[in-house]
Amino acid sequence: YDMDAWYFSPYPDPYGRCAKLHLCEFCLKYFARRSTLLRHAAKCDLRHPPGDEIYRSPPSPASDRSGSGGAAVTAPPIAVFEVDGRKAKVYCQSLCLLAKLFLDHKTLYYDVDPFLFYVLCERDRAGYYHIVGYFSKEKHSEEGYNLACILTLPAHQRKGYGRFLIAFSYELSKKEGRVGTPERPLSDLGAVSYRS
Ligand code: ZN
Repeated sequence: YDMDAWYFSPYPDPYGRCAKLHLCEFCLKYFARRSTLLRHAAKCDLRHPPGDEIYRSPPSPASDRSGSGGAAVTAPPIAVFEVDGRKAKVYCQSLCLLAKLFLDHKTLYYDVDPFLFYVLCERDRAGYYHIVGYFSKEKHSEEGYNLACILTLPAHQRKGYGRFLIAFSYELSKKEGRVGTPERPLSDLGAVSYRS
Protein backbone atom coordinates (compact mmCIF):
# COMPACT_ATOMS: atom_id res chain seq x y z
CA TYR A 1 0.00 0.00 0.00
CA ASP A 2 0.99 3.60 -0.60
CA MET A 3 -0.06 5.70 2.37
CA ASP A 4 0.17 9.43 2.91
CA ALA A 5 1.53 10.36 6.32
CA TRP A 6 -0.65 12.67 8.40
CA TYR A 7 1.73 13.77 11.15
CA PHE A 8 5.38 14.06 12.02
CA SER A 9 7.14 10.95 13.25
CA PRO A 10 10.70 11.00 14.62
CA TYR A 11 12.28 8.48 12.27
CA PRO A 12 16.05 8.81 12.64
CA ASP A 13 17.98 10.54 9.89
CA PRO A 14 18.29 10.03 7.01
CA TYR A 15 14.94 8.19 7.04
CA GLY A 16 13.11 11.10 8.62
CA ARG A 17 13.98 13.23 5.59
CA CYS A 18 12.89 10.79 2.90
CA ALA A 19 9.99 11.85 0.75
CA LYS A 20 8.87 8.24 0.84
CA LEU A 21 9.75 5.46 3.24
CA HIS A 22 9.54 1.80 2.29
CA LEU A 23 8.49 -0.56 5.05
CA CYS A 24 8.58 -4.32 5.29
CA GLU A 25 5.03 -5.20 6.30
CA PHE A 26 6.18 -8.14 8.44
CA CYS A 27 9.12 -6.85 10.51
CA LEU A 28 8.33 -3.14 9.95
CA LYS A 29 11.95 -2.29 9.14
CA TYR A 30 12.15 0.87 7.09
CA PHE A 31 14.23 1.67 4.06
CA ALA A 32 14.96 4.75 2.01
CA ARG A 33 14.79 2.92 -1.30
CA ARG A 34 12.41 0.48 -2.80
CA SER A 35 15.29 -1.61 -4.14
CA THR A 36 16.67 -2.06 -0.61
CA LEU A 37 13.25 -3.11 0.60
CA LEU A 38 12.95 -5.68 -2.17
CA ARG A 39 16.36 -7.11 -1.26
CA HIS A 40 15.25 -7.28 2.34
CA ALA A 41 11.89 -8.84 1.49
CA ALA A 42 13.66 -11.68 -0.34
CA LYS A 43 15.31 -12.78 2.89
CA CYS A 44 12.92 -11.59 5.62
CA ASP A 45 11.40 -14.77 7.01
CA LEU A 46 8.85 -13.19 9.35
CA ARG A 47 5.28 -14.00 8.30
CA HIS A 48 3.44 -12.64 11.33
CA PRO A 49 4.17 -10.25 14.19
CA PRO A 50 6.85 -11.58 16.56
CA GLY A 51 4.55 -12.68 19.38
CA ASP A 52 1.86 -15.17 20.39
CA GLU A 53 -1.31 -15.53 18.38
CA ILE A 54 -3.97 -15.10 21.08
CA TYR A 55 -7.06 -14.70 18.93
CA ARG A 56 -8.22 -16.09 15.61
CA SER A 57 -11.58 -15.36 14.03
CA PRO A 58 -13.86 -18.38 13.75
CA PRO A 59 -13.79 -19.96 10.28
CA SER A 60 -16.62 -18.63 8.16
CA PRO A 61 -18.39 -21.27 6.09
CA ALA A 62 -18.61 -18.91 3.15
CA SER A 63 -14.91 -18.17 2.91
CA ASP A 64 -14.06 -21.38 1.08
CA ARG A 65 -16.78 -20.97 -1.49
CA SER A 66 -14.76 -20.13 -4.54
CA GLY A 67 -15.79 -19.01 -7.95
CA SER A 68 -19.27 -20.34 -8.41
CA GLY A 69 -22.54 -18.50 -8.33
CA GLY A 70 -21.53 -15.03 -7.23
CA ALA A 71 -20.57 -15.86 -3.67
CA ALA A 72 -20.71 -12.83 -1.42
CA VAL A 73 -17.39 -11.17 -0.71
CA THR A 74 -16.44 -12.29 2.77
CA ALA A 75 -14.12 -10.57 5.18
CA PRO A 76 -10.70 -12.20 5.42
CA PRO A 77 -9.94 -14.16 8.59
CA ILE A 78 -8.26 -12.08 11.26
CA ALA A 79 -5.91 -12.79 14.13
CA VAL A 80 -4.45 -10.88 17.05
CA PHE A 81 -0.87 -11.28 18.18
CA GLU A 82 0.36 -10.25 21.62
CA VAL A 83 3.85 -8.79 21.25
CA ASP A 84 5.96 -8.01 24.30
CA GLY A 85 7.81 -4.69 24.05
CA ARG A 86 10.71 -6.09 26.01
CA LYS A 87 11.14 -9.23 23.90
CA ALA A 88 10.56 -7.66 20.48
CA LYS A 89 11.95 -4.23 21.15
CA VAL A 90 12.97 -3.22 17.64
CA TYR A 91 9.69 -4.39 16.13
CA CYS A 92 7.67 -2.46 18.72
CA GLN A 93 9.78 0.67 18.26
CA SER A 94 9.23 0.47 14.51
CA LEU A 95 5.52 -0.03 15.10
CA CYS A 96 5.41 3.11 17.26
CA LEU A 97 7.26 5.13 14.63
CA LEU A 98 4.85 3.93 11.97
CA ALA A 99 1.84 4.67 14.17
CA LYS A 100 2.99 8.20 14.90
CA LEU A 101 2.61 9.04 11.21
CA PHE A 102 -1.14 8.75 11.77
CA LEU A 103 -1.58 9.88 15.38
CA ASP A 104 -1.62 13.53 16.40
CA HIS A 105 -0.27 13.10 19.89
CA LYS A 106 1.70 10.17 21.03
CA THR A 107 4.88 10.27 23.00
CA LEU A 108 6.04 6.67 23.20
CA TYR A 109 8.65 5.54 20.69
CA TYR A 110 11.65 3.97 22.28
CA ASP A 111 10.73 2.99 25.82
CA VAL A 112 8.56 0.07 24.76
CA ASP A 113 9.57 -2.40 27.53
CA PRO A 114 6.61 -1.66 29.84
CA PHE A 115 4.05 -2.26 27.09
CA LEU A 116 2.28 -5.07 25.34
CA PHE A 117 1.24 -4.57 21.74
CA TYR A 118 -1.85 -6.24 20.34
CA VAL A 119 -1.39 -6.42 16.60
CA LEU A 120 -4.40 -7.15 14.43
CA CYS A 121 -3.74 -8.97 11.15
CA GLU A 122 -5.62 -10.25 8.16
CA ARG A 123 -4.59 -13.76 7.22
CA ASP A 124 -4.34 -14.64 3.54
CA ARG A 125 -4.74 -18.03 1.92
CA ALA A 126 -1.00 -18.66 1.99
CA GLY A 127 -1.00 -18.23 5.77
CA TYR A 128 0.70 -14.83 5.78
CA TYR A 129 -0.46 -12.33 8.38
CA HIS A 130 -0.81 -8.74 7.17
CA ILE A 131 -0.89 -6.01 9.80
CA VAL A 132 -3.98 -3.80 9.69
CA GLY A 133 -3.85 -2.12 13.10
CA TYR A 134 -2.89 -2.44 16.74
CA PHE A 135 -3.25 -1.10 20.22
CA SER A 136 -0.73 -0.87 23.01
CA LYS A 137 -1.29 -1.43 26.68
CA GLU A 138 0.80 -0.88 29.79
CA LYS A 139 1.73 -4.15 31.45
CA HIS A 140 1.06 -2.64 34.88
CA SER A 141 -1.13 0.41 34.91
CA GLU A 142 -1.78 1.98 38.30
CA GLU A 143 -4.56 4.08 36.82
CA GLY A 144 -6.37 1.06 35.39
CA TYR A 145 -5.71 1.96 31.77
CA ASN A 146 -6.41 -0.90 29.42
CA LEU A 147 -5.27 0.86 26.25
CA ALA A 148 -2.55 3.40 25.52
CA CYS A 149 -2.51 3.91 21.75
CA ILE A 150 -4.77 2.56 19.05
CA LEU A 151 -4.48 2.74 15.30
CA THR A 152 -6.03 1.23 12.22
CA LEU A 153 -3.76 1.84 9.24
CA PRO A 154 -5.39 4.19 6.71
CA ALA A 155 -5.58 1.49 4.02
CA HIS A 156 -7.73 -0.61 6.36
CA GLN A 157 -10.01 1.95 7.92
CA ARG A 158 -13.80 1.73 7.67
CA LYS A 159 -13.80 -2.03 8.04
CA GLY A 160 -14.77 -2.05 11.72
CA TYR A 161 -11.26 -2.86 12.94
CA GLY A 162 -11.11 0.11 15.33
CA ARG A 163 -14.24 -1.07 17.08
CA PHE A 164 -12.93 -4.60 17.13
CA LEU A 165 -9.71 -3.47 18.82
CA ILE A 166 -11.59 -1.42 21.40
CA ALA A 167 -13.89 -4.36 22.15
CA PHE A 168 -10.82 -6.59 22.38
CA SER A 169 -9.22 -4.28 24.96
CA TYR A 170 -12.28 -4.62 27.17
CA GLU A 171 -12.36 -8.38 26.73
CA LEU A 172 -8.78 -8.52 28.00
CA SER A 173 -9.79 -6.45 31.03
CA LYS A 174 -12.71 -8.77 31.62
CA LYS A 175 -10.37 -11.75 31.62
CA GLU A 176 -8.18 -9.95 34.13
CA GLY A 177 -11.27 -9.33 36.27
CA ARG A 178 -10.77 -5.59 36.10
CA VAL A 179 -12.49 -2.46 34.99
CA GLY A 180 -10.47 -0.71 32.30
CA THR A 181 -10.46 2.59 30.48
CA PRO A 182 -8.30 4.07 27.73
CA GLU A 183 -5.50 6.47 28.50
CA ARG A 184 -6.28 10.17 27.90
CA PRO A 185 -6.09 12.26 25.90
CA LEU A 186 -7.59 10.29 23.06
CA SER A 187 -6.39 11.04 19.55
CA ASP A 188 -8.90 12.56 17.12
CA LEU A 189 -9.66 9.23 15.52
CA GLY A 190 -9.58 7.41 18.84
CA ALA A 191 -12.22 9.74 20.23
CA VAL A 192 -14.45 9.15 17.22
CA SER A 193 -14.12 5.37 17.57
CA TYR A 194 -14.82 5.33 21.29
CA ARG A 195 -17.84 7.59 20.94
CA SER A 196 -19.37 5.40 18.28
ZN1 ZN B 1 11.09 -7.73 7.07
